[in-house]
Amino acid sequence: MNNIQKNITDIQTIIDKYATASNRSPASIHLMAVSKRQPVEAIQEALDGGHRLFGENKVQEAQTHWSSHRTHYQDLKLHLIGPLQTNKANDAVELFDVIETIDRPKLIKAVTKEAVKQNKPIECYIQVNTGEEPQKSGVLPQDLPMLIECARDAKLNITGLMCIPPTNEPAAIHFAFLAKLANEHNLPNLSMGMSGDFEKAIPLGATHIRVGTAIFGVRD
Ligand SMILES: *Cc1c(COP(=O)(O)O)cnc(C)c1O
Repeated sequence: MNNIQKNITDIQTIIDKYATASNRSPASIHLMAVSKRQPVEAIQEALDGGHRLFGENKVQEAQTHWSSHRTHYQDLKLHLIGPLQTNKANDAVELFDVIETIDRPKLIKAVTKEAVKQNKPIECYIQVNTGEEPQKSGVLPQDLPMLIECARDAKLNITGLMCIPPTNEPAAIHFAFLAKLANEHNLPNLSMGMSGDFEKAIPLGATHIRVGTAIFGVRD
């Protein structure tokens, strides 16, 4: 087993442990390998080990990483976890299985239009700026009901919420808040937790944890 495969196995063991401790089924928590800014060899090692769920934060880089793999690995699942510009909605809908970063009406409009055009009922999550940080993308918590309504009107398939907590605050507060919001709106998926804090996200209901450096090592 190479290092990357070992890291994935080790993290999976931790996930199973925390899941069991919080009376959750380990199968309800999905480990997403965040492959942004990683060499193709590293991605290949994860694929060779059987890993199939990956996250990328830029559309163009994701195309370089994944366009050819898409046809080869039928069971591959790709999530977009970085901000999306409306003029890239076309490429994003084509490449990804899930867009986790829906955060404004204009983007709902652009993604819906592409989903119809490509006849691809793409799954989406809404990114919530739980820390209300001015520089961070994501909808403000108070604007979430309006955005969910907007997505329902457009018939965009929203199935979850995603957040990136502020670095200078305890992540657990934000995870709990996101879980509460998802519960209020009957959304089953919760994308939260990264290399440094995924253990905390598990008892609070994470269904997708996004792990980069703890799997692949430090990025370029
Ligand atoms: C890069 C990134 C991650 C992974 O971060 P690590 O700390 O390397 O695990 C998770 N989520 C998002 C949105 C990211 O951009």
